[in-house]
Amino acid sequence: MKAAVWHDIKDVRIEQIEEPVVSSSQIKVKVEWTGICGSDLHAYAHGLSKEAHPISGQKPPITLGHEFSGTIVELGEDVSGHQVGERVAIEPLIYCGECYACKRGYYNQCNQVGFVGLNRDGGFAEYVVVDENMVHVLPDNVSFEEGALVEPAAVSFYAVRESKLKAGDSVAIFGAGPIGLLTLLSAKAAGATQMIVVDLSEERLKKAKELGATTIINGSRDDIAATILQLTNGGVNVAYEAAGVQPTMTNAVASVRQGGQVMAIAVYSKPVSIDMGQIMFKAADITSTLAYRHIFPEVIDMIATGRLDVKQVITKKIQLDDLIDQGFNQLTNDVKQAKILVKPTNN
Ligand SMILES: [Zn+2]
Ligand SMILES: [Zn+2]
Repeated sequence: MKAAVWHDIKDVRIEQIEEPVVSSSQIKVKVEWTGICGSDLHAYAHGLSKEAHPISGQKPPITLGHEFSGTIVELGEDVSGHQVGERVAIEPLIYCGECYACKRGYYNQCNQVGFVGLNRDGGFAEYVVVDENMVHVLPDNVSFEEGALVEPAAVSFYAVRESKLKAGDSVAIFGAGPIGLLTLLSAKAAGATQMIVVDLSEERLKKAKELGATTIINGSRDDIAATILQLTNGGVNVAYEAAGVQPTMTNAVASVRQGGQVMAIAVYSKPVSIDMGQIMFKAADITSTLAYRHIFPEVIDMIATGRLDVKQVITKKIQLDDLIDQGFNQLTNDVKQAKILVKPTNN
């Protein structure tokens, strides 16, 4: 079968590999759509660990792709909770089940947490074998395209659920990439009224406006926090930091009101400093979330009932053969793009 296999930095090959085989407790899925994530771009440009993952036991070459939907085509002999033909979205977390966090159900905090598609063969392929507990059935009115968006939507929706946001609150979202846009949709669904989005790109801000942002602010301005304080009469209730750099964190801290909260969703490649004097003066808090846990069924329900219109973040659909040029390279160079979906088969 055809797959996009990571061999090394800037060396992802679309090549023929063996179809995966199910073990007794696993499920084989024919992939319909797979989204490209920032972490796929990071793996392409900056690399993956060459060590075998402690849980999956797999090391590169590894098939990328962790945001995917598909159809069940085969069940291992011990699988009883699913059927061939079911349409599914995949929750790609790999965890040990034995550590302090796992034993308490906090599997996203597992000290060996990994992902299908980064630490084990993933969804940029015609077929994937996954564990039974990774499979979530999609109702008929949720499309495969929307199914591929459940994973990134879960990141944002979980962060909003874990934040202090209450209906009627104001929010600021720093970063209007796919996660920032899905955070905007989640905050709107959770009842936020004033929704301010900050980004460096006018095209992304335009998209945020289409998705319901009440105010958009260009991140190159030097009065961002002052503008937000003025618009909200003293600051937002929650600032979501979805950019992962110092200036956005500084502005997020400066934009929250007394008793407000900064919720960090981004991945930080470098440490950032935080003005604790401001946090203390406002008795605000600062917290973060990593991925999600126990939330896929709720996200699927939110999509099925029309409360989370995730397909709005899709800007392009491509074939697997075009993954590097029209996927990775375009996302790196063209800020108009939000979520690009990839079709691994030609039908
Ligand atoms: Zn991702
Ligand atoms: Zn664990």
